[in-house]
Amino acid sequence: MLLVTGGAGYIGSHFVKTYLDTHPQAQVVVVDDLSEGHREALAFSDRIRFIQEDIGNVEGMIQVLQSQGIEAIVHFAASCYVGESQTNPTKYFQNNVVKTLNLFKAMDQAGVKRIVFSSTCATYGNPVRMPLDETHPQNPINIYGLTKLMIEQALRGYCETLGWSAFALRYFNAAGADESGLIGELHDPETHLIPLVLRAAQGKSKAIDIYGEDYDTPDGTCIRDYIHVTDLAHAHIKALEKLQASTGFDAINLGTTHGASVKEIIAICGEVTGKPIPVNVAGRRPGDPPRLVANADKALNVLGWKTQFDLRTIIRTAWAWEEGGKYATDRLTASHA
Ligand code: UDP
Repeated sequence: MLLVTGGAGYIGSHFVKTYLDTHPQAQVVVVDDLSEGHREALAFSDRIRFIQEDIGNVEGMIQVLQSQGIEAIVHFAASCYVGESQTNPTKYFQNNVVKTLNLFKAMDQAGVKRIVFSSTCATYGNPVRMPLDETHPQNPINIYGLTKLMIEQALRGYCETLGWSAFALRYFNAAGADESGLIGELHDPETHLIPLVLRAAQGKSKAIDIYGEDYDTPDGTCIRDYIHVTDLAHAHIKALEKLQASTGFDAINLGTTHGASVKEIIAICGEVTGKPIPVNVAGRRPGDPPRLVANADKALNVLGWKTQFDLRTIIRTAWAWEEGGKYATDRLTASHA
């Protein structure tokens, strides 16, 4: 049986949906404390055993691992705001490091040795070369990236000493929503570019702030590698398959290799929505490198995975989710019919 921690969150719920869609006989166990996730994000299937629990509760997690017959874990549960990690580092060290080390303690005691871990390109820090490959130095410039790096290193240690098998998957910019429209991105507060641009298109905000247009990039705005959340989910499935036949630790970038600038995103959002998008040029956001793009060769070579969805599909599915009323009860009920 597979355990998904943080399965009620944005990326976690898309993983659960994609996993169940591609494994029609399977069930999964989800542990989430619902501090950030949404119970409705898992209403699309009755093949989910939902357990509201804190991953930092060692006794509680040993009980879950043993009673549910858990053989492998996909670990998404974490706090994920870079800005907040700088103002409240204690929250990030506790939630992302201490609680994850407690989960590892529970795994050790219950004899679970396989795990896929959500890591991030924020572990690299300021790029010294581009595109970023997995051998790029890891010098995170924010607490969020540091907490993820600390766990990568702990995992490497468990793999070397106790024979665990683990992948750390370093995400670039996750975006978009499941094609069904049943689940999508719902953060509070929302800080990510694409949902904020779409809300400006809906008239829910006065304008989208562009954080700096004086960078050394072709149009002066920052470039990021936006990857569809369902593509990310498929990479986790490939990683799980690979873990069954191997031991040891490996880290792999999940990105598209294509960068898009803030202004390019706004332009495509305008085309997809057919709506004018008012912009406001604001100052630079501290800690934003001008360009972050993945080298994704290793994902192809090791996992046999590459992305399927383009930027337009990312924005089209994100728009359908924003316009569809989010976890609308009528659609969730219809999904079981
Ligand atoms: N960005 C922006 N306005 C916003 C939010 C983000 O210009 O309201 C920019 C941000 O500076 C970065 C890019 O959009 O260059 C992506 O930011 P996001 O927060 O979505 O992801 P990050 O790359 O920080 O993980």
